Amino acid sequence: MKYLSEYRNLEATKTLLNELHKITTKPWNIMEICGGQTHGLVKNGILELLPENVRMIHGPGCPVCVTPLNLIDKAIELLEQGVIVCSFGDMIRVPGSKKSLLEAKALGGDLRILYSPIEAVSIAKNNPDKEVVFFAVGFETTAPANALSVLHAEKEGVENYSILVSHVLVPPAMEAILDDELCTIDGFLAAGHVCAIMGIQEYYPLVEKYKIPMVVTGFEPLDLVQGIYMTVKQLEAGKYKLENQYARAVKEEGNTSAINVIKTIFEVGSREWRGIGEIPNSGYVLKEAYKKYDAETKFGIENIKVPENSKCIAGEILRGIKKPHDCSEFGKTCKPSNPLGAPMVSSEGACAAYYHFSNNTI
Ligand code: SF4
Repeated sequence: MKYLSEYRNLEATKTLLNELHKITTKPWNIMEICGGQTHGLVKNGILELLPENVRMIHGPGCPVCVTPLNLIDKAIELLEQGVIVCSFGDMIRVPGSKKSLLEAKALGGDLRILYSPIEAVSIAKNNPDKEVVFFAVGFETTAPANALSVLHAEKEGVENYSILVSHVLVPPAMEAILDDELCTIDGFLAAGHVCAIMGIQEYYPLVEKYKIPMVVTGFEPLDLVQGIYMTVKQLEAGKYKLENQYARAVKEEGNTSAINVIKTIFEVGSREWRGIGEIPNSGYVLKEAYKKYDAETKFGIENIKVPENSKCIAGEILRGIKKPHDCSEFGKTCKPSNPLGAPMVSSEGACAAYYHFSNNTI
């Protein structure tokens, strides 16, 4: 197939769903890692069309959802110190412990919403008497552009630019989920866009260690159904291997230019995940040679710590232990217009996807 529309073809999707029903004989729990996949499954009504025995568990792959509360408070602290804080739009409504970035902007903070971190370097260049920080959030997918902004600032000699880093990595999170004693996952749909950057080589050891099928999967309806079909086919046959459903975008070795940019400024270090806690070697931190671009060190905000909202069960949802409907606040005190937790804010968040598209039967 050549065109995106072909991956949205209703008849082809229905045919594959029928095949999936025919081959499914036992109950299987499959986790889709990425919030974009969750959104695609819920929005397209695929969850209701799956065999009763196939249960999808929604994974932690939403960058907004996994960014810890204290990082939001750190960005707000920078705004209150008079720093120009730049961010992608999806972070600005996420509640911190007292307010969101948007509310801090309403109180006078200089918050800029950007489409690219390179724009933040230009803002720093044009405002030499101000400090400018980019809120560098996300998985492996956004890391290359954030890394490039630092290299660009270095090349241009821009000293008043730094980044507030909250980059997390998918494979260590999968490992932490699989090690959880409450884990019931039989197979994974790995995140196609992460693998488009990083390749698929990191996943072979996980498949072997946990003897679990993984299928790198895209985001369109046919992609998702095909990824589930390939996973169930392996499970029903008692096999476990890594397969690539998203071969039109994912190469074995990934995007080597992007990986090289990441490796130039970042190294792997421990990271805190919202609702999950610290996972060793689960994120990127700036290398020593680039520490001067680290906003946390530059502004002395490393030690800001705040407890999560006790009513929000985002951590259990992100680990696949509970679903949004299991939260007592879902649709009552917590709605997209008044979110208590990040999964209700982001368009990739499971709670927001269920709120907008689910009919409460899944
Ligand atoms: S519904 Fe709201 S409070 Fe409940 S888990 Fe989702 S974001 Fe948190």
